[in-house]
Amino acid sequence: MPWVRPTPASSGLASPRCARLASRWRRPLGGPAAHPIPKVNCHQEFLMPYVTQSYCSFCTQSDEFAIGLWPEHLGVFICPTCKTFVNVPLAKGQCSSCGYQPSIQEFYDYAPFIPYGRQDPNKITFGPLCPKCQHGKVYFETLLHLNVGRLGLSKDGSSPWLGRDYLEKAIFVHAVMGACAELDLQPDEILNYYSVDVPHSLMTNRKLSQPILRDIKYHLFAVASSGDTPFQVSVKFKEENDKLTRRAR
Ligand SMILES: [Zn+2]
Ligand SMILES: [Zn+2]
Repeated sequence: MPWVRPTPASSGLASPRCARLASRWRRPLGGPAAHPIPKVNCHQEFLMPYVTQSYCSFCTQSDEFAIGLWPEHLGVFICPTCKTFVNVPLAKGQCSSCGYQPSIQEFYDYAPFIPYGRQDPNKITFGPLCPKCQHGKVYFETLLHLNVGRLGLSKDGSSPWLGRDYLEKAIFVHAVMGACAELDLQPDEILNYYSVDVPHSLMTNRKLSQPILRDIKYHLFAVASSGDTPFQVSVKFKEENDKLTRRAR
């Protein structure tokens, strides 16, 4: 998985609650972790995209790709040449295997089809036709979280995603809006926290990505637990955070 960029072990101390939550969030959603997971400083490094696996209902072949890594990926593309789901890097804009450069409209909107965790075998939501056999539909599961650092905070301080409209960012920003609606937070403050702008041309008819929505909410709770909250905490946010704290004990 060449896109994986695990952060080094943090020198900061996570709060006990942070550590408890981290132990929940860092666990793989199914099967063993693919690599050792470093100790986490909630405030600076605690945010994770997901590893997703596709399964074909006909040929049983599968692919693995990431969702939610908008600072590095334009989106998920079903490459007809490579017959696989790929993450297209933000920097090059091309399929890393064949070099094809998909247009914005050619990316796959996975948001309504990729659940958090595994699917109930009796209620599977199917996505598109399998790119490998073209006979069966595929379904998806999210397998584990990865710690790649706080999204929107690059090492060199650059923000190459700003001013660009692309699907991975649109899915994330829509999930930010969803989290703000659920927790009664100010979208401008949360977008500012992530150093992300709104890709206006792609914001109509968006669907919520449940794993990304969940990740944003839990990340904001973890940030709040550090005691240095860079956004106004609402009554609703505090109530939900307290509930989570009680469950984590
Ligand atoms: Zn297939
Ligand atoms: Zn390709």
